[in-house]
Amino acid sequence: MTVESVASVETVPTCAYPGCTMPPEPHAPDAQGPAPRYCGHPEHNALGAFRKFRAKRQQRKEDKRAAAEAKKAAERAAKGGGGAGRRAGPGRRGGAPAARTCPRRRCVRAGPGGSHDQ
Ligand SMILES: [Zn+2]
Repeated sequence: MTVESVASVETVPTCAYPGCTMPPEPHAPDAQGPAPRYCGHPEHNALGAFRKFRAKRQQRKEDKRAAAEAKKAAERAAKGGGGAGRRAGPGRRGGAPAARTCPRRRCVRAGPGGSHDQ
């Protein structure tokens, strides 16, 4: 975007195509109706401008959707997501290994001895 001087742009008409700063084509002396609003570029006409507008809008829409989806995914992940792939990790929870660390054999042996409770 090049904004030179807004004051001078007011007096000089430019192509109505978005982003184009070319002057519109001169009004043909034998043509009827209003002066052309677009420059000589083959795509710079009402249809081209419309297409450009629509493409821009579509792009914005897609950007928005992508952002929304990314946000959703982030929220899902932040929620402590019981998502897929989490279960494949090593180390099962709720297993019995904790109980095993208490050597039952020693307890049994200490029981009759009387010196098990401190
Ligand atoms: Zn143009």
